[in-house]
Amino acid sequence: MRPEQECRQCGRCCEKWGWGQKGVIEDLIPWIRDNRHDILQHLTITLANRKRCNGTALSLADLPRVTRIDYWTDPDGRALSFCPFYFQADDGKVYCKIHDAKPAVCIGFTPWNEGIRDYALNCPACHDTNP
Ligand code: SF4
Ligand code: SF4
Repeated sequence: MRPEQECRQCGRCCEKWGWGQKGVIEDLIPWIRDNRHDILQHLTITLANRKRCNGTALSLADLPRVTRIDYWTDPDGRALSFCPFYFQADDGKVYCKIHDAKPAVCIGFTPWNEGIRDYALNCPACHDTNP
């Protein structure tokens, strides 16, 4: 059995895909419940009536009307070309400033488990396993 790989925290995947992603309703529930405006301010939400709003305007009661969740934007709704939670520390590793609350698309990103594996990332963790 192949041992579980460990992410090397090089940050390449966050740099390449940490923005322009779509969210899921399950991401929003804890952020709204815990008043995570630091995160919600970087979302643009599209509602069933096609109106768009910032994530900070949402309540749990609004969730059935959410049709699309875009990561990441500035508080005025302009798309960012980077993830605002990306942080490179002095040790050279990249850390996620919202690690304990990051979205499902980030939690689930384990390229060494995927058929395509490397996604042109040059992911150092993928190099350690044979396809
Ligand atoms: S590219 Fe690979 S090793 Fe680097 S942060 Fe992403 S998953 Fe981890
Ligand atoms: S939220 Fe965290 S894990 Fe996701 S792209 Fe940004 S820095 Fe990377």
